[in-house]
Amino acid sequence: RPLVNSDIFVQVLQEAHALFAEDTEGVNADYIPELAKIPSELFGLALVTVDGRVFVAGDADYVFSIQSVSKPFTAALVLQEYDAPEILVERIGVEPTGLPFNSVLAVELHASRSVNPLVNAGAMAAVSLVPAEDKTERFLKIKQFYEAMAGQKLKVIKEVYRSEAATNQSNRAIANLLKKYGRIYADPEEALDVYTRQCAIGVSARVLAMMGATLANGGVNPISKKQVLEARYVPKVLALMLTAGFYDESGRWAYEVGLPAKTGVGGGIVAVVPGEMAVAAFSPRLNQAGNSVRAMRAIEYVSQRLGLGLFQ
Ligand code: GLU
Repeated sequence: RPLVNSDIFVQVLQEAHALFAEDTEGVNADYIPELAKIPSELFGLALVTVDGRVFVAGDADYVFSIQSVSKPFTAALVLQEYDAPEILVERIGVEPTGLPFNSVLAVELHASRSVNPLVNAGAMAAVSLVPAEDKTERFLKIKQFYEAMAGQKLKVIKEVYRSEAATNQSNRAIANLLKKYGRIYADPEEALDVYTRQCAIGVSARVLAMMGATLANGGVNPISKKQVLEARYVPKVLALMLTAGFYDESGRWAYEVGLPAKTGVGGGIVAVVPGEMAVAAFSPRLNQAGNSVRAMRAIEYVSQRLGLGLFQ
């Protein structure tokens, strides 16, 4: 498929954009006050192939906060830093919780293994595992890793960081609960703060598609050609995305679309087609589970039109 005529990609993205442009289902996240202010009508799509061709439709360059789409990338960084696939299994856990992303109950139920790197508890634990002297270095390592994935510099959206930092009591509770169970590996306040900053990193649909395409391309960024993530860790990250990328709708996404993908409450989603491409979408209105309604529908449409599902 990487060798097919590019016209089909342009056409399918435009179709998906037109099909869902008027779809107003869902609402912006508002538990992070700043996210409620993002214009709800924004809608962008991007597709990047492993040979570095980039296709976009709509608001593909609007910069929004990465939020939970960051989680698989920090998990990837941890795998690479320890150079040991068992690190995530033993110190965080890889079982989907079947519960909301910010579930405290999940931490209690899974006290012996602290859940999964793609929900908040496991994501803060992953942040705490990144080897660093202090929180500045920890955050810098994470950001630089994302930048290498994206092949470009990225910036924290300060308003989103401040807004979440002022309202993240539930994540603070989770970080401290993990501490009680010995399942967080740095000071919980520090892990919480770095995690909050990581979630506020600005990306666009185009940037997310490029980050996803680096995963699709065995860890090599399609443009810079740098091996950002060792190829043997890519399947581990994709497995997490397939089983836990859509909060408590992960099973349904796997059932209906069959692609490893990750969503975030900022409205972004990236789906990875191993060896071929990544498709990303952005639209701020979310459903009950916290998944962007139009982004989901658009990626599902693109996947069906191009026959991308892994199990077909
Ligand atoms: N920073 C957000 C939080 O911790 C991320 C949630 C998400 O995108 O799922 O609540």
